[in-house]
Amino acid sequence: AHTSFSSQAPGKERTLIVVKPDGVQRRLVGRIIQRFEQRGFKMVGLKMLQVSEDLLSNHYRQLRMKPFYSDLVQYMTSGPVVVMAWEGHQVIQSSRNMVGQTNPAEAQAGTVRGDFSLHVSRNVVHASDSPEGALRELQLWFRGQELLDWECIDESITCEDD
Ligand code: GDP
Ligand code: MG
Repeated sequence: AHTSFSSQAPGKERTLIVVKPDGVQRRLVGRIIQRFEQRGFKMVGLKMLQVSEDLLSNHYRQLRMKPFYSDLVQYMTSGPVVVMAWEGHQVIQSSRNMVGQTNPAEAQAGTVRGDFSLHVSRNVVHASDSPEGALRELQLWFRGQELLDWECIDESITCEDD
């Protein structure tokens, strides 16, 4: 039953967004949520947790050979994170644009990283980078029952059926 993690239905794409420990420490969670809400996306999952090294090493398994990997693990496990699933029309690509470049020095103003961060090692937020990545990461961070299907009253106004 993959349906709660991803859907072929137009406008029902889902992605994983994580407010990293620096974002939680700096009390940026509300402002980050607000940006996704105001864009028109729908929250379908939300929780706060302390990440285990197991989960994190799976999440970032493509980066294991990078020189910064041990710093990354230390950073991501240094305190609680807030994990969110967001749904909507092309949410995966749009949320990457909203989050901005990996290195905040290259992130445009108006993006989360471009507005709230300075250094690549403390870039406030994670966003899945592809449909395959989003599916894998949603399954890794959430149980199926933690993701909700619900109808938002403005959906027929913000998005025409494709
Ligand atoms: P993202 O998809 O934009 O988050 O970037 P990547 O998937 O390439 O890297 C994952 C995360 O690793 C980034 O968001 C950073 O937190 C961290 N990271 C990436 N590159 C560097 C680096 O050069 N130095 C350090 N310290 N951390 C990095
Ligand atoms: Mg990435």
